[in-house]
Amino acid sequence: MSPSAIETLVSTPSLTSVDQYFENSKSSYIENNGVNTPKQLIGNALKERVQNIDHDVCEPGDEDTFFVADLGEVYRQHMRWKKNLPRVKPFYAVKCNPDPQVIRLLSELGTGFDCASKAEIEQVLKMGVDPNRIIYAQPCKTNSYVRYAANQGVKQMTFDNTDELYKIKKLFPGAELFLRISTDDSSSLCRLSLKFGAAMDTTEELLALAQKLGLNVVGVSFHVGSGASDPLAFMQAVQDARSVFDQAENYGFSLHTLDVGGGFTSETFEQMAAVLRNALDTYMPSHINIIGEPGRYYVSSAFTIACHIIARRTITLPETGETSYMLYLNDGLYGNFSSIMFDHQNPIAQVLHTNERFHFDKASAQESSDGTEYSIWGPTCDGIDRIAESIRFNHTLDMGDWLYFEDMGAYTKCSATRFNGFSDAHDVIYVASEPGARALLGMK
Ligand SMILES: *Cc1c(COP(=O)(O)O)cnc(C)c1O
Repeated sequence: MSPSAIETLVSTPSLTSVDQYFENSKSSYIENNGVNTPKQLIGNALKERVQNIDHDVCEPGDEDTFFVADLGEVYRQHMRWKKNLPRVKPFYAVKCNPDPQVIRLLSELGTGFDCASKAEIEQVLKMGVDPNRIIYAQPCKTNSYVRYAANQGVKQMTFDNTDELYKIKKLFPGAELFLRISTDDSSSLCRLSLKFGAAMDTTEELLALAQKLGLNVVGVSFHVGSGASDPLAFMQAVQDARSVFDQAENYGFSLHTLDVGGGFTSETFEQMAAVLRNALDTYMPSHINIIGEPGRYYVSSAFTIACHIIARRTITLPETGETSYMLYLNDGLYGNFSSIMFDHQNPIAQVLHTNERFHFDKASAQESSDGTEYSIWGPTCDGIDRIAESIRFNHTLDMGDWLYFEDMGAYTKCSATRFNGFSDAHDVIYVASEPGARALLGMK
């Protein structure tokens, strides 16, 4: 048998499809005479909706914020994951954006799911996902949710302290347990190790107790923090996990799975993945299963939001006579811009529609260094509700105009509130710029 034939036999079908995807990807958007590029699809969807809204006559709510979600982008991120981390099976972190179409696409693509509550587990199970494809990755769980997980056959769950082990012993002794260790998350945007993760000097005690209680520890998990920027955090965490794998042997556990958590971002993904691949090859022999829990990586860039300018205040600076404006949008920090508060994000406004014209994806949409100065505010009565302190555009923006913000898929809609009576139920218009995604979802 020639080496290439052997390779064909051992390479999984999914890998072949990934290779094929990247071979074809140059031509894959160019359909229908090139009108299906991701930007064109998103732009057309934004335009169609905004064109049909006249704020002089519309009903309350008609001019509400809305999203356009490109499910093709989720599909591309999945292919990119498989190309760069072929050993790591992704379990999408549902909390990041529980959008039903995103969950549906990912379930069709065969990912697993990281859930942290009964409602998240229920949502995923309702899609017909097998309970084995779910990890209940919350180290401090609610009793009744643990009973629910047990009833549904969701066995995989994390723990990081002795109290939780007693809880699991009582409520679900057959669970498959992952010991979550803490990591150095000092370089990440959202630090999680303050709240979760067993310190390395406590893992021995936890393994001993698990053995004494007759529990089933099957793996180790960690999370380097959301938006981690130091790839070496992964290296250190995998090393630490290795030493817990070795410790566990002494307590009669033969661990078979490592969960490398989430924290991946699109901007640094290749760099992070290279370090992680290297760490896994060094410390984790090939019979060890590797899973991950990416959240923002999958959805951040897939969602664009359009916001309506509901009011404007004109400011004239006494010193210079320069005129600037405060713009009030129908969405803000208590709404879909909750990511500014909770996720340390800085969404950038672009001009969608002003003076009867659309500017989506044009140079004129973007911030300019010498234009008119604006500050951008949300609709609530709270002064903290500010989206941008200062941004300049070469347009005079006024009530009734529209702005858009890209990269609004992660920790936005899901953490919005209804404070001050503003809605948290906003429409999502779905497009799919990848034929593969359209086929899986039965979209045209
Ligand atoms: C939030 C969270 C994730 C996802 O984090 P991202 O930064 O969105 O990738 C994964 N695992 C756990 C346990 C989490 O709490």
